[in-house]
Amino acid sequence: MSRRAFLAASAAAGGLLAGLWSCEEEPAPPRAVTTSRAAAAPPRAATARAAPATSTAATSPGTAPATQTALGSADLGAELFPDAQGRAIAKPTDAPVIVVRRSDWTAAGPNLTQIRPMNGVDTITVHHTAGEMRTDAWRPTAGELEHIRGFHAGAAATDRQWADIAYHFVVDRAGRVWQARPLAYQGAHVKGHNEHNLGIVLLGNFETQTPSAAQLWSLAGFIGFVRGLYAVPLDRVFTHGELGQTNCPGKTLQSYMNRTRRAWAAAEHTSWTPRTT
Ligand SMILES: [Zn+2]
Repeated sequence: MSRRAFLAASAAAGGLLAGLWSCEEEPAPPRAVTTSRAAAAPPRAATARAAPATSTAATSPGTAPATQTALGSADLGAELFPDAQGRAIAKPTDAPVIVVRRSDWTAAGPNLTQIRPMNGVDTITVHHTAGEMRTDAWRPTAGELEHIRGFHAGAAATDRQWADIAYHFVVDRAGRVWQARPLAYQGAHVKGHNEHNLGIVLLGNFETQTPSAAQLWSLAGFIGFVRGLYAVPLDRVFTHGELGQTNCPGKTLQSYMNRTRRAWAAAEHTSWTPRTT
């Protein structure tokens, strides 16, 4: 949820914020971030040109790697699609959608003193920002991302003061997928369910508007792509409202996600049933 949407919703709720605060949550800071852990991280040059994955054996969902304690350095954010050890397993151009790097929209990095390593992906969760978005132009889209990042990671009392923007990827109205919080780090998008959970947010309020066709096409393609990279089963693809008490991602996007997962289940010769909390 963006600052603008949050403030609007807060006003509408007459200051009753309890429900809104559960929309996302930054985990507690890690127990210790030491210089020795940073020093133990592999050098950037050794990880920058790893070959794209040719099988899903590169990751073992839910299993912490032996090198877990090496994670936590500034180098971890370098890879768009890291494996559990932070090594690249795909290039941006491997994705079936346009992927915009974080450095193209912000110069800021995450606060590494209060962020946890991801250590692999086994879950995907879809959100909306809850702020109405009617344009697909680059500049206002980049501005909206920076606006949300500022709300989530800003230092002001009205900001959430998290380590970074909550989500890993943002799908805009044109269908571009923007890198947000580096996937090497755990997100802050589902209270109590952030471990190994890749967070995707669509710009818009899908209680009051519908996602654009380009947005939905890219969302489906991107989810398919990251499911393949990280071997995420269909029953681990959620919407926020399926994991917590929230209307996120809005009724029109929830409906699309239900239809899409049914279609995927049929194609994969498996079953999928809607989950409610
Ligand atoms: Zn959400």
